[in-house]
Amino acid sequence: MNLFYFPDLKHDETIVDLKSDEIQHITKVLRNGPGDELIATNGEGWAFRLKIIEASKKSIRCEVLNSKLYERLPHHNLHIGFGILRLRDRLEFAIEKAVELGVGGIHLINADRSERSNIKLDRLDAIAASAMKQSLQVYKPELFLHNSLDAFLQSYSGNIIAAHEMSVDPIQKQLKSSMLNEKLAILVGPEGGFSDRETGILESKQIPLVSLGPIRMRAETAVLKLISIVNNAVAESNGLQLYKDPV
Ligand code: SAH
Repeated sequence: MNLFYFPDLKHDETIVDLKSDEIQHITKVLRNGPGDELIATNGEGWAFRLKIIEASKKSIRCEVLNSKLYERLPHHNLHIGFGILRLRDRLEFAIEKAVELGVGGIHLINADRSERSNIKLDRLDAIAASAMKQSLQVYKPELFLHNSLDAFLQSYSGNIIAAHEMSVDPIQKQLKSSMLNEKLAILVGPEGGFSDRETGILESKQIPLVSLGPIRMRAETAVLKLISIVNNAVAESNGLQLYKDPV
């Protein structure tokens, strides 16, 4: 099944003119044309069943046959924040997999030891959108860019825990059941880890520094492990959430 992403789709329209990079794929690769049906999302929880009326090179006109708003799932309360990674492909990998594993927001933090600051949010957003479609989700996690860990801490309100390779406190012990149904941000450092200054700030704010086990992982691996552990705990505390076909 294909799910298409059209951020401009509104649920109260009956005929829609759609333009995006998706059109070429729909008309050229999949050879869809008038009369064919598509399933699409606007990334804000709505899924649409569309019927193509007219197709040109750059746009399609569709009739909206049906639309449905999906509820947010418990894992949408989970935000992942991590130090911007020097290697672009690893940064993109972390974003793609974080979306597939299920998060509500992704915070890219220009940490003291981040060695890259030229971030193209548009490109990363397209990667998040593509991962959302691939995994048949209808909410696109929002991407945020922060100039420093301090800036993230100032703007974020909610529970926070941070993975620290020197911690001896297993995450399972620090994850309180109350956190699992509230907004929770989990933090990972960049390749070189959090600086002493940042570790001090986290400690002064009484943010639990947790261990992910005895193995020191690369930052992107720690991101994925952390999301998996927390989402498992979230699923357990809410009963399993199974995917249902959109619309
Ligand atoms: N400080 C290290 C590497 C840091 S690993 C160095 O000497 O280069 C990058 C990030 O992954 C860390 O900041 C931490 O958030 C996370 N991480 C990796 N392994 C971890 C573990 N076993 N427990 C907790 N966090 C870990």
